Amino acid sequence: MDKDTLLAWDRAHVWHPFTPMRQWIESDPLVITEADGVRLRDADGRWYYDGVSSLWLNVHGHRVKEIDSAIRDQLDRVAHTTLLGLANEPSIVLAKRLADLAPAGLTKVFYGGDGACAVEAAIKMAVQCHANRGRPEKTFVLGFTGNYHGDTLGAVGVAKDESFHEAFGALLPGHPKAPYPHCFRCPVGKDRADCGIACLSEVRAVVAREAHRLAAVIAEPVEGAGGIIPAPEGWLRGVREICDEHDVLLIVDEVATGLGRTGSLFACDEDGVSPDLLCLGKGLSGGYLPLSATLTTQAVFDAFTGEVEEGKTFFHGHSFTGNPLACAAGLASLDLLVDLLPSVAAKAALVARALEPIAALPIVDDVRQRGLMVGIELAGDRTGHEVTALARRRGMIIRPIGKVVIFLPPLASTDDELNEMLAILRDAFAEAG
Ligand code: PMP
Repeated sequence: MDKDTLLAWDRAHVWHPFTPMRQWIESDPLVITEADGVRLRDADGRWYYDGVSSLWLNVHGHRVKEIDSAIRDQLDRVAHTTLLGLANEPSIVLAKRLADLAPAGLTKVFYGGDGACAVEAAIKMAVQCHANRGRPEKTFVLGFTGNYHGDTLGAVGVAKDESFHEAFGALLPGHPKAPYPHCFRCPVGKDRADCGIACLSEVRAVVAREAHRLAAVIAEPVEGAGGIIPAPEGWLRGVREICDEHDVLLIVDEVATGLGRTGSLFACDEDGVSPDLLCLGKGLSGGYLPLSATLTTQAVFDAFTGEVEEGKTFFHGHSFTGNPLACAAGLASLDLLVDLLPSVAAKAALVARALEPIAALPIVDDVRQRGLMVGIELAGDRTGHEVTALARRRGMIIRPIGKVVIFLPPLASTDDELNEMLAILRDAFAEAG
């Protein structure tokens, strides 16, 4: 179909997520028609690097032959059957694979579609777990300032943002909050070098005060949508200890960080933490199809077993839970990831070196990186839009979040591809400056 018709129909009918639509309709957006490796092609035939991994989820690039054929093979058997009352092969094998790879003790896998579904399931599991154990008053979930967990109401409830969620106040329960370790702007006014992670004492105080009604604490190991803010080493371990002291479950949201993005299979592993509930999404299917998972322990699972009349069942699920095509893609992606993972640290080091001249620019306030997640915060009141528009003109798609320019290339990008992407980034910053 020709580009003008596509654009006219897009403007007439498609409501884009997180998008001021009046401005969108007046703009001249790219229409992506195909992809190859780490590049996307638009309807005018121009190629662009996928510098945000198609919203932080592409792992091995696009049109990867192993994942493509895993999906095609599955398509020749069955595209979808339900997990309500039936089982299917790819969802079983992937669950076994995840249980083998996940942090210790996470042996049970509950599937969803998007990352928010994984968070929603984790919140409900935590609350019902306590109810089933005889503590029905534990219904609140402590979240950290600036963390993001998705856009369904449960996920929004634990990460309320004044500018996005004002209209929904009446629908959100007012969960307690604790400060996240934003080390660039320390919430307790310390210096990272000798802070001893002092902000944990505030977490300890809030959890101790709220413990009687607290089902869980939910945390991102690297605050993603808040602007790529890695928690310091030892922070998540500290949160784990606090939860254990107060009979509060720990939910770790690794929708963005999980499956290699930080250089480890799971960011939790870097702090030696096993949560009670682990949320995965985005890269779980290699970024091919909507697939997420909530992993949990035998102990949490056991709280949901009993006679049917006891009402302990987890009555929660979706039509596409455990979709065989998505799980087949997930299995193929995990096979590739096991070989790819050892190379991520060297790629992250290459990126870190290339970011040094950008960090020195006067328009840049802070550069933050964990693995292949990068956030470059601009000084003053500048937003990232100018830089991302300049990068697009030079052939790379990136997206800002407020004043932070996000660079999150596919993990499988080669050194040459990374160097070309970083050259575009450097030129875009230099021109904006
Ligand atoms: N949790 C985190 C940490 C995320 O970064 C995101 C998405 N950016 C989500 C949850 C929500 O995932 P989804 O958009 O797939 O619902």
